[in-house]
Amino acid sequence: MAADKTIAPATDPGAEAAAPRHFIRQIIDQHLADGTWDHVATRFPPEPNGYLHIGHAKSICLNFGLAREYGGICNLRFDDTNPTKEEVEYVESIREDVQWMGFQWTNNFFASDYFEQLYGFAARLIEMGKAYVDEQTAEQIRENRGTLTRPGTPSPWRDRPAAESLDLFARMRAGEFPDGHCVLRARIDMAHPNVVLRDPTLYRIRHAHHHRTGSAWCIYPMYDFAHCLSDAIEGITHSICTLEFENNRALYDWVLDTLGFDPRPRQYEFARLNITGTVLSKRRLIQLVQEGHVRGWDDPRMPTISGFRRRGYTPEAIRDFCERIGVAKADSTVDFALLEHCLREDLNTRAPRVMGVLNPLKVVIENYPEGQVETFDMAYHPEDPAMGSRTVPFSRELWIEREDFMEDPPKKFFRLAPGAEVRLRYAYYVTCTGVVKNEAGEITELRCTYDPQTKGGWSQDGRKVKGTLHWVSAAHAVPAEVRLYDRLFSTDNPMDVPEGGDFKDNLNPESLTVVRALLEPGLADAAPGLRCQFERMGYFCADPDSAPGAPVFNRTATLRDTWAKIAQKG
Ligand code: ATP
Ligand code: MG
Repeated sequence: MAADKTIAPATDPGAEAAAPRHFIRQIIDQHLADGTWDHVATRFPPEPNGYLHIGHAKSICLNFGLAREYGGICNLRFDDTNPTKEEVEYVESIREDVQWMGFQWTNNFFASDYFEQLYGFAARLIEMGKAYVDEQTAEQIRENRGTLTRPGTPSPWRDRPAAESLDLFARMRAGEFPDGHCVLRARIDMAHPNVVLRDPTLYRIRHAHHHRTGSAWCIYPMYDFAHCLSDAIEGITHSICTLEFENNRALYDWVLDTLGFDPRPRQYEFARLNITGTVLSKRRLIQLVQEGHVRGWDDPRMPTISGFRRRGYTPEAIRDFCERIGVAKADSTVDFALLEHCLREDLNTRAPRVMGVLNPLKVVIENYPEGQVETFDMAYHPEDPAMGSRTVPFSRELWIEREDFMEDPPKKFFRLAPGAEVRLRYAYYVTCTGVVKNEAGEITELRCTYDPQTKGGWSQDGRKVKGTLHWVSAAHAVPAEVRLYDRLFSTDNPMDVPEGGDFKDNLNPESLTVVRALLEPGLADAAPGLRCQFERMGYFCADPDSAPGAPVFNRTATLRDTWAKIAQKG
């Protein structure tokens, strides 16, 4: 991927404050100024065939955000016109995700609410000579559509009398024909340069159970027919969709103009969101779930809204991200680092600081009295006293991070080493006096002494130490399962595969590492969803798998951007 197409993290912290007048805002401003509309009505129209992903978040923020900004309305409308792929589970997850993002719909509608009306509109088109029942096979229809350079061939049924089509359409509905026996087509122009207008299919027969209408219908409207009419029925003013529907706009306009809607909604297309290192397509995400590459739709490695939520992302961070990437007409790929940047900026101000050791190494403080326990009062946030504090026990035996000790350290290693002195956060200065090893030569324990004159972590004689380590008292430590995540795919563009390859070949086999961590005791009963910073180790969020006394944490993000570095290597 070309570097110039990647949107890098903004360094200006106020960048999101002033809402830029992107082209859709400009269009609305114009419409309100010239009287085309005196209000704004948008909709977010997901097909309930999967969970929402971060791309949908962009569309949610745009549609609901515009309604909020202009004091208008925004409907949540399920585009449930394809009975075979849609499920109630998806409907419920989509509602939950939209609300979690911080938005509330004015109305929650379903395209299936309009099946009777849509049928009526189709019948009217037939009466007007603008639609006909075609009995060609699907293959013949495809063949006869022509190509970009070759005009289509009219169907032998194209000029059949309206009464005949009307009768057949009623019999389609009545279930007289099997799937694929015939379709209803618009009668537009078989030679039109825009292939979409070469008599597109409006209705097809599908004997299938629908999640809402059950077996009431065996004919279902096509997206292009149902979508524009649903917009018109709801009085949508600005129908916003992604660029791949640009060619379909002509059909959107044709249906509504032919049926005489005035005023009527208009369609505007924007570039869909692509992010480095992942795929944003329900069709592909569903494969990851069904084939067991992840633990479910809400696996914290998934780019789904529910995955981000479980991982510990905040809706504020995602909304900030959507505002910063803007809305444009040109396709681009956004660096995942920007999303992480927005997340860190948000969590930095709100996440309480706590201590947890991910890869524990025992430390025994030889001159600390056996059996003695002291407690230290520790602020939850260095810059926000309002967040309060907690008490943390300290004792003779502690856990520190294994990576914080080196027996033979390089010059600039400021953490613990034989003979070196460091600060244990908020507690004391300690000096390493010995190293205990097992038969295999592995370090199993460190021996240290502490300086009682440094209580609170500050020396009275002005002696300075460069390293400050986090720690947990061994006798009080709470064991926890901690899930560390790396990128789900090892390449920036998982879709870039050699011929015959599959995007799943690019899955990163090391995207999940589970460790047994030891945490400060206050985290024993962490409620699922609790977000905090383990000092020096990153932001974490308690997982729903947590039980009282047995917390499970997901690492939401490291404190600094390791992603860009990994991405360069990958
Ligand atoms: P997918 O390709 O993931 O299945 P879709 O477009 O088929 O996505 P829909 O449920 O039809 O999914 O989408 C609902 C709305 O979200 C549509 O308006 C669609 O344009 C928008 N949307 C989907 N993906 C993205 C994306 N990556 N960026 C921005 N908007 C998106
Ligand atoms: Mg779709």
